[in-house]
Amino acid sequence: TPRRTAAEVARAESRTAHNYHPLPVVLSHAEGAWVTDVDGRRFLDLLAGYSALNFGHGHPRLLAAAHAQLDKVTLTSRAFVHDRFADFCAALGDLCGKDLVLPMNTGAEAVETAIKVSRRWGYDVKGVAPDSARVVVAAGNFHGRTTTIVGFSDDPDARGGFGPFAPGFDMVPYGDLAALEAAITPSTVAVLIEPIQGEGGVIIPPAGYLRGVRDLCTRSEVLFVADEIQAGLGRTGRTFACDHEGVVPDLYVLGKALGGGIVPVSAVVGDHDVLDVLKPGQHGSTFGGNPLACAVGLEVVDMLGTGELQAQAEQLGGILAGRLDALLGHGVVSYRSRGLWAGVDVDPALGTGREVCERLMARGVLAKDTHGSTIRLAPPLVITPEDLHWGLDQLAAVLV
Ligand code: PLP
Repeated sequence: TPRRTAAEVARAESRTAHNYHPLPVVLSHAEGAWVTDVDGRRFLDLLAGYSALNFGHGHPRLLAAAHAQLDKVTLTSRAFVHDRFADFCAALGDLCGKDLVLPMNTGAEAVETAIKVSRRWGYDVKGVAPDSARVVVAAGNFHGRTTTIVGFSDDPDARGGFGPFAPGFDMVPYGDLAALEAAITPSTVAVLIEPIQGEGGVIIPPAGYLRGVRDLCTRSEVLFVADEIQAGLGRTGRTFACDHEGVVPDLYVLGKALGGGIVPVSAVVGDHDVLDVLKPGQHGSTFGGNPLACAVGLEVVDMLGTGELQAQAEQLGGILAGRLDALLGHGVVSYRSRGLWAGVDVDPALGTGREVCERLMARGVLAKDTHGSTIRLAPPLVITPEDLHWGLDQLAAVLV
């Protein structure tokens, strides 16, 4: 490890809580799909901020939008209206085909918001008895880190030692429609799922599952809440992962890429019949929907409006899948991919996912393991085919 890197890693370790175990690389600059560290080494970023950097680092349009807004007004609070708010809400609502937008900041906050809205809808519209609303979630889920959310996780690391937890959640196996149907009761207000489970290892449900969830929810008067925080906004080759089955949820939960990798921006997006249950004073956020967030978010939505990035993700996804196919039996046991997003199960005999990522780093590629021997690949959607090939050359090289 180079000297400055070692020193910075040691300093960071000595002064931060140890809730992460980052790769020993200290980044100081970034552009597009490439990042540079304090010792001048360049790396290809195949994680892209867990999909928050779908447009790459420092996209000129996003930077320009942020810079311009910085000089005008950056925070008003929602006590007042600002002049970027309506544009952002209208554009994002239109992108989703929905009436209304409820802006928050982080993904977990948006998920919490969707849970609150669902419960409120259950009581006010569906007529569920007070304090008895239930939400069905899927095994293997990842929706964030708040106490309520980790309470309905089945990952022992995420939940262990953080109880007691909020009641009102029922867990079913992911991808199993019969189990979902059996779990829905008259008190069920929502089904909350990721259309593709990201942290779970890029787990793609069986074909027809999302359509089945949609039909079940409609039939049972239950809200379909799609957590598209990691899967949405172009990553899978479509605007939303739900689009692959032509399915529209009642609530979209969005985050990560919505802030263009510049500011945290999240949102819950839905129609009047659902979001109108919230009245003034019943929910809020100091920073949610601030002018800087709206300026950047609006630019993100505009960029997605052309469909160009989605098409690029699909095209590059073809390269990714083709290269991973060729690695099957050559260090890769199995993989799942959709668009420019893959969960790659490497042969455990070659080392843990972490060790493979360390070897990739030594070859100038940054990626992140998730759960044992699975590596998640989520390059910026703006990566060039040549860079993508080069990155996958490095993967092939470390898997021998
Ligand atoms: N939901 C999903 C599907 C996610 O992947 C994540 C983050 O990885 C979250 C929610 C939480 O988002 P945040 O870390 O911004 O709270």
